[in-house]
Amino acid sequence: MLHVILMGPQGSGKGTQSERVRARLDLASIATGELFRAAIKGQTDLGQRIQAIYDRGDLVPDELTVALVEERLDELARERAAGSSVRGAVYDGFPRTEGQANALDRILTDRGETITTVVVIDVPRATLLRRLAARRVCANCGRVYNAESDPPRVDGVCDACGGQVVQRADDTPEAVTKRLDLYDDETAPLVERYAERGLLTRIDGNRAIDEVTASIVEAIQARAMATSPSGKVA
Ligand SMILES: [Zn+2]
Repeated sequence: MLHVILMGPQGSGKGTQSERVRARLDLASIATGELFRAAIKGQTDLGQRIQAIYDRGDLVPDELTVALVEERLDELARERAAGSSVRGAVYDGFPRTEGQANALDRILTDRGETITTVVVIDVPRATLLRRLAARRVCANCGRVYNAESDPPRVDGVCDACGGQVVQRADDTPEAVTKRLDLYDDETAPLVERYAERGLLTRIDGNRAIDEVTASIVEAIQARAMATSPSGKVA
């Protein structure tokens, strides 16, 4: 299976790229935010434990996050055994800590698998600030707009529901800078870890969406060929 870790700061287009790359290469999503929501909605044992942690206002501990990722991998393995064409997974928002990265190594080793590549989408800080400063959100339905590249048809009015389109208070330059700094601090040790292991691929994210997608797909395929013993992409 292909195991692709996708990293990139807020405003890098990571969510959009993840979706496009998954569709192109027939990969499933392993996004921890989605896994948490699905587990809570499904009222699973893990879901109930996560709900209780949310209710207390605490962070979900690594051990629970890892358990959910393992469940998802088991599910994918069953789907593949049943004939699904899914070729692997794109990890989004995971691993986030060194503890989670260690756990992922262990999980994959147990399954006789390995990380295919770690893709980092690089975008200059000035560009991120500009993109995020242009972000607007519908106060009613949450739909996201961009004042420069994707504005609502009528200024300040949501296309979908007619609600008011506003700039969120935490999208000010100061708040955005703080979040980007936090992201850099959090991911630096992981980036270093994967670079040392020769797994890191840096992609210039400051280009047209199609070009970025093409570069990521190409990087994954090149790495998959290099790591597959038969030279064939699994
Ligand atoms: Zn709306």
